[in-house]
Formats: sequence, structure tokens, C-alpha cells
Amino acid sequence: MIVSLHTPTVQFANDLADVIRIFLGGIELKINEPGGELSILHTEIVEGNMRLCRMEASGVFSGIQENRAEVNADPLLEKRYHKRQIKQALYEVMKTACGRTPPWGSLTGIRPTRLIYEGMGRGLSRDQAMAHVQREFDVHPEKARLLSEIVDVQLSLPQPDRQEVDLYVGIPFCVSRCAYCSFLSGEVGKGKQLPPYVDALEKEIRQTLQLIEEKGLRPRAFYMGGGTPTSLSAPLLERVLKAARPFIDQSCEVTVEAGRPDTIDRDKLQAIRENGATRISVNPQTMHDATLERIGRRHTTAQTEAAYQMARDTGFHHINMDLIAGLPGENLDMFLQTLEWSRKMHPESLTVHTLSIKRSSLLHLWEAELPDGKMVGEMVEAGRQEAAARGMQPYYLYRQKYMAGNLENVGYALPGHACLYNIDMMEETANVLAVGAGAISKRVYPAIGRIERAPNVSEITHYITRVDEMMERKRALWAEEWGKGE
Ligand code: SF4
Repeated sequence: MIVSLHTPTVQFANDLADVIRIFLGGIELKINEPGGELSILHTEIVEGNMRLCRMEASGVFSGIQENRAEVNADPLLEKRYHKRQIKQALYEVMKTACGRTPPWGSLTGIRPTRLIYEGMGRGLSRDQAMAHVQREFDVHPEKARLLSEIVDVQLSLPQPDRQEVDLYVGIPFCVSRCAYCSFLSGEVGKGKQLPPYVDALEKEIRQTLQLIEEKGLRPRAFYMGGGTPTSLSAPLLERVLKAARPFIDQSCEVTVEAGRPDTIDRDKLQAIRENGATRISVNPQTMHDATLERIGRRHTTAQTEAAYQMARDTGFHHINMDLIAGLPGENLDMFLQTLEWSRKMHPESLTVHTLSIKRSSLLHLWEAELPDGKMVGEMVEAGRQEAAARGMQPYYLYRQKYMAGNLENVGYALPGHACLYNIDMMEETANVLAVGAGAISKRVYPAIGRIERAPNVSEITHYITRVDEMMERKRALWAEEWGKGE
């Protein structure tokens, strides 16, 4: 649908578009231009220290909503609350016109747990913070409770301190491209890029470990992700892990994603296990061969079972499985069958994703037959119930744009099996030194709410030739000494 948004606050146009997408999904947005099937007219006036905001919808549906809010004297807070006010007015118009309340209400951010932490930071109890999120953003009580449970689990785990750091190693290669993929991973093809990539990676890892030592940082979690790390041969995998071994040996958790079952063999699993990995991810996504073919995974459910068994036989005691709710051509029964199968496999953790169709994915271009938002909501709920029945706790959650049913991704784990790195990434409370093409290093200053980032270039050939520069970016990130109060 084409939507014309007439607004005096063009700087918030994308935020307003996100609110419209909660209800209408993919839209084409025209800003301050006529011609939309739906037109939204946003006006506002300030009287004294009060701002009156008005949203009027016309076209395929119509409605008017107004709200008032105080203008804040602090420019940063003012920007934040002003944005919240206009999003809220638009949300109310859309909700009334569409006649439904979305599960996450007006929330469009990717880290809703933040709101519980923010509330607790203002002195609210966890339950009060949960009630506030429910009331303020119209979040469904079940979802607010989910956030609260996650915060509980997270607070029971070791919290990062400013001298701790995670090490992320990125392998941006896959054996084929999944139709829903929006990552910057390249296809392995004949594998010519792999050896020079690993040469560059070894160099960057060694220099990063040197930086860690110079700065007196302490290893926290190690994570090798991608792409698909097991796209590398066993000898190449071994070289990367051996280079990181001094960090791995001091980490409290070591994960290697072995995502695609068709890339897993005994030699690779042994190389991973012998080099200190404590957690591995084998990702079925679905246990229906027709769906796997449809989404371009190019592996079978039989290969998933074999890879899973091989991982157990190699001695992995923590295997994670990723599943996706809302895949093209699937219905609730099919998702329930996938859940039932995964129960028989006994993974220690389970991540239930909701299909998100980003513009950069192939699925965006296809006319795929997708389950509707209501059914995807039932799938996600079935995943939650299944995890609970197995004694798993939800421990991290994030949301993405363009998610089916405007839902969420949730990681569940048996007690003692939550992945610290996943939490660190989602909550952005830990430092990360990241190596490899497209990897992003982060330095966090939690006491003052500041996060500095140093991204590596994404293009693989550029990364290989510019690895020294990537290292310089990391050094610059850590050049500054800690200030007072940080
Ligand atoms: S395995 Fe992951 S990174 Fe690779 S193509 Fe599929 S979704 Fe993308």
C-alpha cells in the first residue's frame, strides 16, 4: 500500500513509518507528497510548555487522534519524548481504524527488555516496570510477562564488568543462500577466498589478543558465528580456533555455530571440540524437507538428525537449535511437528525465531505463500509452551523489522545453559572485540549509557587487503582511558 505521510517532523518519519508497518506490513512511504491510498496528516502546536499533537488518517480508512505532553527542557530527553508522543498518537489512529491491538502494542524497538531495565533504573520494582510497559505502550500482558521473566533470568547470571570483553569471530560464508537471509554472507563457491580469509583472520585475532593483554581486559565469552563457520574445512577451522586459543582457554563460554547441517562432519566437530568449544548450534529451522527446499537451505531433515547425533557422539553437552515460525507454505500443524521432533532430540537450548522478510532477502522478491500473522502468533506461543514444558527458561529476546505478525525471537535454555554472548549482544552491556569481515567491535560505558563502535569492512576482498586498518580501528576504540564515573 502507498502511504502519504504529511509531517512537520521529517526527522521522525522513519519512526512513524515503523508504526504504520505494525498494522499494514510492507508499505511504500511518501513523505510530504500527495498520492497515497492512505494519507496521514500530522500537525502540532506548542502552548506554554505543552505540546498538542494531532494525527488524522484519510483514504482507505479514516480517524483522528490527539494527545498532549510536556515539552522537556533537556534536549536529549525532549527528542526522545517528542518522538514517543507522536508515535503514540499515530498508533492510536491506526489501532482504532484497524480494530486490533498488536501483541507488542506501539513498541517498534528491537530490545524491549531495555524498557524493564529503564523502569527498574528509575526505582520501580520489576513488577511495576512490567506494568508500566504494559500500560504505556499497550503491550499484551503475556508479552510484558515474558520480558519480566527474561530480565529475571538475566539478572541471575554473571554481569559483565568494564574490564571484561567478548571475542566474536565472523565467518561470512555459506554453502548456499537461504531465501530469507539478509546477512552479508557470500557463497563459498569453489572456496578460493577461504585460505586468504583465514590468513587475515589469524592475523587480526593475534593482534586483538595483544590489544586485550595491553589493555588489561579479561575474556568473558567467545563466539564464532557467520554466515556458517562450518563452511570452513576442518584444517581451516582449526587454524582459526588455535589462533584464538589463549582467549578461549580463559572464557566462561565458547560457542561455535555449525548452523547448516550439510556443512557438518566428524573432523570439523572434533576440531571444534578439541579447541575448547562448550556450545554448538545445529539449526534445523524446520523438519519439513519440502520447506527446506523452498527456502533454499539445500539440506534434508535426515542430514540434520545425522549432524545432531554426530555432535552428541563427539561429546557436545550443549547443543542449541534454531527454529523459524512462519516459513512459507507451513501451517501450525507443521510447526508443531517440528517442535515435537526437536523434543526427541533433547537440545539444551532452543531459539524460536519469527520469519522476518527484509528487503535484501530473496523471499522479499518472491510471491511466497506465508502463514498469516495470527497463525504465526500461535506458532510462537506453541514454541513458548513447548520450551516451558521442557523446563527451559526464556533468556533473551529481540525483535526485527518486517517480522511476521509483528512478533519476536526468543532464546530458551535449560537452567545453567543460557548463552551469555547472546545476552551481551542483545542488551549491549558488554564490550566486544570482533574480527572478520563485517564484524563490529563495541566498547560500552554503562555508567553513562554510551556505546562506541568500530565496524570492519563487509566486503571480503577489502577485508583481506585492509586487515591492518581494521586493527587500527579497534586500537582507536580502546585508545581512550576510562574517564571519571565511567
Ligand atoms: S545459513 Fe544463515 S547466514 Fe547463511 S545464508 Fe542461511 S540465513 Fe544466511
